[in-house]
Parts: sequence; structure tokens; C-alpha cells
Amino acid sequence: MKHPRAAERLVLLAAPLLGLTLACGGEVCVDRPNVVLISIDTLRPDHLGCYGYARPTSPNIDAIAAEGALFEQHISSAPWTLPAHAAMFTSVPDSVHGVVDAVKFRLSEEFETLPESFQSAGYSTAGFFAGPYLHPAFGLGQGFDRYVDCVETVPDGQVDADNEWSMRDPVLRASHHGVTNDKVYAEWQRFFGEASEGSEPFFAFVHLWDVHFDFTPPAPYDTLFDPDYEGPYTGRDFFYDPAINAAIPARDKEHIIALYDGEIAWTDEIVGRIRHDLGAAGLLEDTIFVITSDHGTELFDHGGKGHRTTLYDEQIHIPLIVHYPGVVQAARFGGQTRMIDLGPTLRDLAGLPAVSTTMGASLGPSLRGETSTAPDRPAVSELMSVGRNLRSLRTAEGKFVVNHDNGGSAWFDLAEDPGELQPRGLSGDGEGGGAALKRLYDEAAEEIISGLERAPAGAAAADVPASIQRSLAANGYAGGDGDE
Ligand SMILES: [Zn+2]
Repeated sequence: MKHPRAAERLVLLAAPLLGLTLACGGEVCVDRPNVVLISIDTLRPDHLGCYGYARPTSPNIDAIAAEGALFEQHISSAPWTLPAHAAMFTSVPDSVHGVVDAVKFRLSEEFETLPESFQSAGYSTAGFFAGPYLHPAFGLGQGFDRYVDCVETVPDGQVDADNEWSMRDPVLRASHHGVTNDKVYAEWQRFFGEASEGSEPFFAFVHLWDVHFDFTPPAPYDTLFDPDYEGPYTGRDFFYDPAINAAIPARDKEHIIALYDGEIAWTDEIVGRIRHDLGAAGLLEDTIFVITSDHGTELFDHGGKGHRTTLYDEQIHIPLIVHYPGVVQAARFGGQTRMIDLGPTLRDLAGLPAVSTTMGASLGPSLRGETSTAPDRPAVSELMSVGRNLRSLRTAEGKFVVNHDNGGSAWFDLAEDPGELQPRGLSGDGEGGGAALKRLYDEAAEEIISGLERAPAGAAAADVPASIQRSLAANGYAGGDGDE
């Protein structure tokens, strides 16, 4: 009985007497569920059917969401890949794990990361990644028995060394056009074929990158949502081509968004395949299946494009769906949750001990229906890279943003102004609208300071290979003028 059905999962008090070997070891054991954590890079929840999008971008994700729990207001720690995934794995804000800027930093080995917890508990652990900032040079490979690089790289010899870090070299840009979902899925299949036959449970981190720009989905997804378009835009160089901007005709913007949606539909197909694999092996009910993202992206919402530019919701609002039949009931939670809550939640659901340095809170009691109070906590997001020095405090009702370069601040009433189009200032006496948000912001800043005192380490210095630097430059991640 390698992986009993969730409904039959029992506390096996007699296990030591019977001589059974269970994953957890000790005298009182439960069998462990598998974990499949899917991070779909750059996925905006408002472009998924299960979050209310009218276009059918996500039939497979929607089906999983319908059977599982969906968190409507899940907020990332950052609007870009590296710090957000570092927060996903450490469950502390960016300022505490310290990996806040480009190629200078790597996550310290001193943190107990989420994969390390599962590895220590006897899990077989594997990660498959397709974005350059997931490279082990940045410290995100900690705890994986197998950590597979599926990044589309620039072939050697095609890069002018003098221009290695340029974001404008067309050769470098070309590396971003690649389709990598197939590679990631092939690696997943290779791992799953072995893990599903093994004696220990598994933890799989599946990072899917194709939704990230460029928006060049394979057929039939390239024409799925806008087959009649005859204009000049293709979705290539979405971020780097200055001719693609908020001033282009609405019809062309529609087409670019249709291509972004096509990437989502293409990635949804991969999610469906992974779910099918689990089902075909009879493991769907013994697996905690999570779908989330690291950040969103701007599609001209505030006159810009891409991400790593602002802390508006289109860049920090992310999906979170948790599917675990028999334990997690079908539900939608309207209260706000945070990137840093995911790690404590997965440890809790799998019966692993909590990690004392995490600053998130388990959503397990809500997921199991043990409490009538839905989670609703203030979320901190930060952008301290590419010339920005921003931090925000968001609640389900409002957002307070501080620019630490000049001390300026603004707040938004998300109930009245969900598009964040009307920034407001604090009143002269500091007691008008926004004052409560500012108090929460100040409390969060204090928590970050105490979190830093408890943190096992700050960020370490990155040792990034030249090939990865080239790939990062191709993706607009290295140095540059702050456009991303
Ligand atoms: Zn990302």
C-alpha cells in the first residue's frame, strides 16, 4: 500500500510493531501525500476562467479549481521572478531573505527551504525550471535531489562578448522566443515515471515559463483567440520593442492580449497532462496539487507593459489553487493570502514540522474546514531592483505604497478603485483615509526588522556562470535602464 487513498489515510499507531517502514520514521506515523507544486511564471489570475475571465483560457485549471480550494486574493512578495520564488521557498518577505536584486545575490544555504523540508522528511524531490532566475546559481536549487535546467539558452558563438549584457542585442532577444513547456513536461514525465514506482513520496516543483513574454505560443494557440487579426504585431519582443506601447491602436492591443491568453491556454494543456498522469497512476487523491504563479504582468493597465516595474495588482496579484481530495474541500476564499503562506501550508497539509524562521501562516485550518474564519492578512510586496525602491502593504480593501528613494507615499481604495487609477495622499493630520493602511505598513516594517533579526542569514553573493548571465540579459534581467 504505497499511497493509500486520502480517505483511507490513517494514523498507524501499530506500525512499529508490524515493522512497517513509513516515510516519517518515528513511533506515530501517517503516510505522506505527494506534492506537485506548479508555478506558472507571469500568470495573471484575472486571465483564468476560474477567476472570472470570460475567454476560455484555462479549462484544465478551472476543473482542478472546481474540485479544490481557490484563493481569490493571493499576493506575491515581488513583481519579478527571483525574489518571488525565494519567498515561495523561504516563506519570508524579500527584505528578509535578501535576494532583492539582479545577479548580485543568491539565497543563503542557511535557510531551510520548502524543498529541503520535504527532502529531510524522506521525500524524493525534483524541480524542473525554464526561467533563468531559477538557476541554482541563485540558490533556488536547494533541497532538490534532481533540479533540471530547461531554460532556452543562447547558443555559444552567437553572442558578441562586448554586448553580452545588452538588452537590445537581437541575438540575445531571440533566446526569449523559445517554447519550453514541452521540455519541462518531458522532464516531469521522466521523473514521475520513476517516482510513481518508488517507495517514498515525492515533491515535484514544476516551473512553466511560456506565459512569460515573448507571447509566441505554438499552434493552435497562436491563433486560438484572435484568428482574424491582420495587423503588424506578433507578440515577439513584447517587452523590448518600443513600438509596442500603450499608444498603439486598441485592436492591436487586443491581439497582443490574445497571444498572452494563447500562452495561458497552451500552458493549461500542460497542467492537464500532468493531472492526467497523476490520475492514470491512481495518485491524484494522494497528491497535494498546487497551481500558483510568481507574479503577474502589465498589459497596458497603467500605460506600461511587462513587470518588475510597479507594485500595482496586475503585477503582484497571483493565483493560488490547492487540490487535495478528501482533505481539502472545494471552496473559494475571498480574504487575502500571501506568497509566504504557501510553505507553512504545504508542510502542515503533509504533516511536516513547522520551520521557526518562516513569517507566513498555514492556510491548513481553513483548507480543512477546521475554522469558520477565512484567512485575511496584510501582505507586503517589494521592488528593490532596476532603479526602483518600492514597498507596499496591501489588505483586501486597500494598498499603501512607499517610495523609499524619496519618502513619497500613496494609497489606493481597492473597493472603490480596484484598477488603482486614483492614488491618494494622506491627509495633513494623518488620520483621514489611508491612516489605517499606513499603521499596518509601519507594523509590517517592524516585523521585517524583527524577521531580519531572526533570519538565519542574509543573501549570499551570487556566482553566476557566463551562460546564465547571457540568458538573463536576453530576458532583460541584468542591469539595464530600469525598463523591467
Ligand atoms: Zn517570473
